[in-house]
Amino acid sequence: MLDFLTIYIATIIFVFGTVIGSFLNVLIYRLPIGLEFVKTNSMCTDCKHRLYWYDLFPLFSWIFLGGKCRYCKSKISPRYPIVEALNGIFYVLIYFFICGGKAIDGLNLTLVGYMIVFSCLIVTAWIDFEHQIIPDSMWISIFIGGLFIVGDSVIKGEFTKEYIISKIIGLFAVSVFFLLIGLLSRGAWMGGGDVKLMAAAGFVLGWKAIIVSMFFGAFAGVLFAIGRKIVSKKAMRGVIPFGPFLSIGIGICAFIGESIFNWYLNMFI
Ligand SMILES: [Zn+2]
Repeated sequence: MLDFLTIYIATIIFVFGTVIGSFLNVLIYRLPIGLEFVKTNSMCTDCKHRLYWYDLFPLFSWIFLGGKCRYCKSKISPRYPIVEALNGIFYVLIYFFICGGKAIDGLNLTLVGYMIVFSCLIVTAWIDFEHQIIPDSMWISIFIGGLFIVGDSVIKGEFTKEYIISKIIGLFAVSVFFLLIGLLSRGAWMGGGDVKLMAAAGFVLGWKAIIVSMFFGAFAGVLFAIGRKIVSKKAMRGVIPFGPFLSIGIGICAFIGESIFNWYLNMFI
């Protein structure tokens, strides 16, 4: 059952997640247009008024300001609270998956690694959806998150040959397949960003889970395409970026992908 300590830790992790989430919003806005995201002050994208800490309070600022800029009253995208809340929820879920609701003793690199991975997935999904690009900094950070997780298994003595082989095969399991599709279609069906994303995520998840996540991603993409066709009633307009759906697939399969893979195999054996 949930005891007080668990709720207390989960609350702190949620708040921490929303704070990181507000930084992710900065990345989502600034990475595609190449603005420096450390030195520049935060400002309203409409009136350019400088924003202060009380304008940038995760979740609450947007809610209390009614989704409008304090200075010019122009609408602030609901993306801000959505990304903050999503990142907070993901961090709490990761905490339950990794630590099982127990106290965290010392620095848990596995926890940190998965937090990096999930935050990057949010940024990747959002930027790719809006701009059809996957910034290199994102898949590189996902790979670094994977190194944190592997490093932790070494420290804890849980590192096995089988474990690292699964991750190394994971690097290539889906990415090489995507690379071939990209080369055969001359980049029309698959972009380089998708290839690199699936290589980095394959290292984090291992080969079984990354293969399952590819199917989830494809399924989500097809559902979206059908949904958009029904809603817009027009013929398919423009390309649908694959990155957001791959990110959803990776997120779903990060912890349960391997179980799904084994369950599926067992149906035939
Ligand atoms: Zn403004």
